[in-house]
Amino acid sequence: MRKQIAAANWKMNLTASQAQELAAALATGVTQVQPGQQVILGVPFPYLVLVQNKVAGNKNIFLSAQNCADKKNGAYTGETSAEMLHSISIPYVIIGHSERREYYHETHSQLATKVDLALAQDIQPIFCCGEPLHVRETNTQNVFVEKQLKESLFHLSDAQMKNFIIAYEPIWAIGTGKTASSDQAQEMHAHIRQVLASKYGNETAESVSILYGGSVKAANATEIFSKPDVDGGLVGGASLVATEFISIIESLKPGS
Ligand code: PEP
Repeated sequence: MRKQIAAANWKMNLTASQAQELAAALATGVTQVQPGQQVILGVPFPYLVLVQNKVAGNKNIFLSAQNCADKKNGAYTGETSAEMLHSISIPYVIIGHSERREYYHETHSQLATKVDLALAQDIQPIFCCGEPLHVRETNTQNVFVEKQLKESLFHLSDAQMKNFIIAYEPIWAIGTGKTASSDQAQEMHAHIRQVLASKYGNETAESVSILYGGSVKAANATEIFSKPDVDGGLVGGASLVATEFISIIESLKPGS
């Protein structure tokens, strides 16, 4: 059984009061979550506990950090460790978002370390992968994404890969209003699953939730999520508006 997931990525947006307002609207508005579906909010570090308090009464909403350090602890000013996230009961963390890869030069091996540190704290990574436009234009996206997966995830054990979460986010579709077609998403998601199956076998590959990210909104979510290997979405801009995000959640397929 793999989960169908609507995950929000609030990025570096909202003030504390706006974040609490949005969380409160979701806490009361998210009522249609079926068994096997899950809602995750990727919240900026300073608001994690504030938002946690706001959504505490809604058992379907889980919180995620948007990043964690690639060091366990110590003299790393400004960093936030997986251990710290665990200590405030955060169950998920986004790792390897393309904005972190591009603007903060995060490497495959740093991401592998972050994945390990998160798992060691019982925090499930939401591991992002996806190609830039020039790679798509040369039709080499499959090899590109395969390398991202192999270099940062293939050291994991079969047990660690079971029920893992991957988000495929073509960089050319993030925040641009351009969405991959549902067929393009399905093609890449099937490829990712096949790459996982080649290392971990079919049963494990089938247990992994593969989310699509890149300009998902209420108007296109049903079509994108309808594809068999698309297990929901990682949503940036549209997750900042409660009604939009609730509609996206209601577009999820039942858990399979
Ligand atoms: C994202 O950054 O994860 C994302 C998919 O953003 P948007 O939905 O705004 O394209």
